[in-house]
Amino acid sequence: MPRATKIVATLGPASSSPEVLERMIRAGGDVVRLNFSHGTAQDHIDRAKLVREVAARAGKEVAIMADLQGPKIRVGKFEGGKTMLEPGQKFILDGASKQLGDNGRVGLDYKDLPRDVKAGDTLLLNDGLLKLTVDAVLGEEVHTTVVAGGELSNNKGINKAGGGLTAPALTAKDMDDIKTAMSFQCEYLAISFPKSATDMEMARQLANVAGEGQRHKPGLIAKIERVEAIPALDEILRASDGIMVARGDLSIEVGNAAVPALQKRMIRRARELDKVVITATQMMESMIVNPVPTRAEVSDVANAVLDGTDAVMLSAETATGKYPVETIQQMDAISLEAERADDATIETDFTNKRFGRIDQSIAMGALFTAHHLGCKAILALTESGSTALWMSRHNIKVPIFGITSQPVSQRKMMLYRNVRPLLMPAFRDRDQALASAEALLVEKGVLKPGDTYAITCGEPMGHPGGTNMLKVCRVA
Ligand code: PGA
Ligand code: MN
Repeated sequence: MPRATKIVATLGPASSSPEVLERMIRAGGDVVRLNFSHGTAQDHIDRAKLVREVAARAGKEVAIMADLQGPKIRVGKFEGGKTMLEPGQKFILDGASKQLGDNGRVGLDYKDLPRDVKAGDTLLLNDGLLKLTVDAVLGEEVHTTVVAGGELSNNKGINKAGGGLTAPALTAKDMDDIKTAMSFQCEYLAISFPKSATDMEMARQLANVAGEGQRHKPGLIAKIERVEAIPALDEILRASDGIMVARGDLSIEVGNAAVPALQKRMIRRARELDKVVITATQMMESMIVNPVPTRAEVSDVANAVLDGTDAVMLSAETATGKYPVETIQQMDAISLEAERADDATIETDFTNKRFGRIDQSIAMGALFTAHHLGCKAILALTESGSTALWMSRHNIKVPIFGITSQPVSQRKMMLYRNVRPLLMPAFRDRDQALASAEALLVEKGVLKPGDTYAITCGEPMGHPGGTNMLKVCRVA
């Protein structure tokens, strides 16, 4: 069995040379993430071009995910670049300050902070390493006492424990970045800090307008990293194509201890609603500097796989780390091993389930049949990729091949668990299409004479959403 779980790798200075990127893709990178929190529009355009070129050279399709920065809730700059905060000392976050900060106060990039907090609130700075309690809000000044101290440097992020910051999910920069990302036809667009379905609908509208000329529609990923997004999970999922369990910001807002259970719930819910899910942040953190992961990191990746995530994501590990290729190799090996221990859950998944759509019923029928007959593969002839998506929401030990004539659908399917997308020309004639699909899999070495497989398609051919046929075949 090839690896079912997909690997998302973030590009950065450590991974932007053609040589390293090619090795990363060959080692198992399936989706490349461009992080719009860093770099200029031109940097991202150049990197996207490089990804397409290198992927073609490696003979592998790779999806591009453009990850928008979202609102910057940050302190301003300091004289000398930083200060040292001691527990017990007073410190003022000053929305009106135009001066460089010092040990007593600092300005704010996020001017609305004084209106979002009140006495008694806890603020977490620099990814939660520093903790301040709000004593009082006086005009534009937020007066605090330092609880957990440490170094605070320029433009470090601010989170509020328990959530409640009102910054909108899409900034003016994000709106420009959507246009940039659409100019190179990103397959996925990730939205940072959405709080509701409305945030996602707005992003979708902007993407649709920007993509109108090329009739390109990216998949939208909601990064779940705000307290407010948790009760709104279902509505956000329905408005999106997938979610990211964005454990970095999420764990600061909800507290570390709550995150593992939330991860399991988010993955389960995404799959139930036929959406994709990426598990992100600090999965292999120690490999930024070390050539091997810690035992805890190995377990973390394996557990995300066992939770049923579509993909595991690397951030600084591949963007700025010393071992980008080795990290992917390790993640590949850990995922494969975890998948081997995973059970097919197809029977229990279907208990009490009803499928109202013809195409979805055919997809489920193919899964059930392939599982019971012990088929070598499931072939889904799919224009949009949705048949393959439905099939991939269930654990099954049979690999699914999503066969499409649309390169964009092919690349989008790179994110789906247990789906290997393949490109094949469109055929008007059904029997010709079925024969070509079989020939393709034989040519790839997946099917041999005597092997059984299940194949789905729609008649008439070539209509998205038209799947209405299941055939079980034996290779002659
Ligand atoms: P980020 O999002 O890396 O863009 O902050 C992921 C996270 O918060 O976990
Ligand atoms: Mn984040």
